[in-house]
Amino acid sequence: MYDYQAPADLLKDRVILVTGAGDGIGRAVALGYAAHGATVILLGRTISKLESVYDQIEAAGHPQPALVPLNLEVATEHDYQELARNIQENFGKLDGIVHNAGILGQRTPVEMYNPEVWSKVMQVNATAPFLITQALIPLLRESDSASIIFTSSSVGRKARAYWGAYAVSKFALEGLSQLLADELDDERHRIRVNSLNPGATRTAMRALAYPGETKDSNKPPESLVPIHLYLMGRDSEGVTGQQIDAQPK
Ligand code: NDP
Repeated sequence: MYDYQAPADLLKDRVILVTGAGDGIGRAVALGYAAHGATVILLGRTISKLESVYDQIEAAGHPQPALVPLNLEVATEHDYQELARNIQENFGKLDGIVHNAGILGQRTPVEMYNPEVWSKVMQVNATAPFLITQALIPLLRESDSASIIFTSSSVGRKARAYWGAYAVSKFALEGLSQLLADELDDERHRIRVNSLNPGATRTAMRALAYPGETKDSNKPPESLVPIHLYLMGRDSEGVTGQQIDAQPK
């Protein structure tokens, strides 16, 4: 799993939604999926970043992606139903979702945590993935092999001081992942659901959380592509309800 080598056409004819696809880990995963044949639906909040990923995929001659500018902080059920309608009309099915978009919020004791920031973090990191998944389950059922990946964190499995709503939102995601894995584990609709802890990765969020680190302290986002390919492709069929670490312990 950790040194997975994907065949070049692993995701041929697959339609996959990646949230937070404009930057960091989401960007690397979106590019990696497209390079393995997937039609990637790029969801994110900054249009210029999404366009840059779009252009890179097109320039490389990979399947034309779709672009969905959406701010998960304010998006409503209606927006997600609209997204489902668009995917239905354009593709007729969905083969996977990578719930990768996330925000850090404050690094401060619970006693001092700003309730508005708390709500915002919970909305983007936990409630939006719930609403997106709820709207898209019917389309995942149209796939013969679908996969949902929830991007977690080490503090979503064992909380540590000062991680506030970020940690709690990741605990919520872990719960949602387990719930869905159990609910969807039936014979007719094989939709596997797992959570993935990327581990320390060189991105804007990591720099915000650890301002003292040097740029080269952590692995680049591209190093997470193989495990995302494994979990999205058919080689992980039957793997569901797992809490996976991207780096071996
Ligand atoms: P980045 O900050 O680099 O990227 C986060 C992405 O999420 C960006 O594309 C961002 O868009 C998008 N996003 C944030 N808020 C919203 C919103 N309201 N609506 C839509 N999109 C939004 O972070 P990482 O790549 O580091 O993080 C990706 C995931 O990995 C997160 O879930 C994070 O919690 C998790 N993770 C990361 C670790 C690390 O060391 N980097 C370690 C453990 C977990 P925009 O650029 O437009 O703001």
